[in-house]
Amino acid sequence: MATILDGLALSKIVRAELAERVAALKAKGITPRLDVVVAAQDPASVAYVNMKKKWAAAAGMIGEQFEIDDNTTQQELIDIIGQLNANPEVHGVLLQHPLPKHLDENAALLALGAEKDADGITPASLGRLTAGLDGFRCATPLGITKILDHYNIDVTGKRALVIGRSHILGKPMALMLLERNATVTIAHSKTLDLADRCREADILVAAVGRAEMVKGDWIKPGATVIDAGYNKVEGRKGDVGDVHFESAVEVAGAITPVPGGVGPMTVASLLSNAVTAAEKSVS
Ligand code: NAP
Repeated sequence: MATILDGLALSKIVRAELAERVAALKAKGITPRLDVVVAAQDPASVAYVNMKKKWAAAAGMIGEQFEIDDNTTQQELIDIIGQLNANPEVHGVLLQHPLPKHLDENAALLALGAEKDADGITPASLGRLTAGLDGFRCATPLGITKILDHYNIDVTGKRALVIGRSHILGKPMALMLLERNATVTIAHSKTLDLADRCREADILVAAVGRAEMVKGDWIKPGATVIDAGYNKVEGRKGDVGDVHFESAVEVAGAITPVPGGVGPMTVASLLSNAVTAAEKSVS
């Protein structure tokens, strides 16, 4: 039976540390502020943002919300980002993915200043990661590395397989594992023999968006399994991961549950990046 990698419990520790960092900043007259741009007509985005706002407020942070919708023009979105870039009271900005379909998300991310990129997903932040330079790391893979560290899972020299190559998750995850000296393979929808590739992996990160795709018999006995997936399945309550937990937990050495694994540490890492941005503004 695998060790359960409890991201929710770890996020509580990180959030308690955050509250202390926020209090120290407030003593210097700075209140960390994370502003959010969200598609108001997308209930899932609004729900994720509400949770992020709740945890930010609990840590003592503040933030404004900018709602965009099907009537928002690209220029209006760029203008909002321009105002946030220019406002010294705003330390971090989250552009909640996905934006309404008619808007160009890449152009919006290109417009956002890297020093306020709390989610670590602008091309500038991803470039800094690729070049091994200091910068904000992408929140979801950053949260995953915090889980690995907390549970003393050393990836050095190990075979890591990341399933998924999105710029917000799979690619930066692979780069962060590489930075930690894992031997990394990235799988995607065109990968042949995916189950066999999974069986070779000591560290398996599923970032696919397909409910319970990775089965227990795809997993190398004793492997560390990180499930980043959040999928809605008709007739089932809550979110379902990319890994079939019940079979995987019998084979893996360690595994993140869904919910309570990667998700809470994504939020904690986003808030931590925003507080770091505020700390940098006074140093
Ligand atoms: P995405 O942009 O849709 O990317 C999915 C990736 O999976 C793509 O690279 C795709 O390959 C690959 N893929 C799709 N079907 C596959 C298959 N049958 N076999 C192998 N690879 C396959 O998704 P994303 O934004 O990275 O998100 C992935 C999952 O993580 C989703 O469930 C999402 O909800 C979740 N997520 C969780 C958090 C969190 O905080 N926990 C944060 C963000 C996302 P191609 O590139 O070839 O199309």
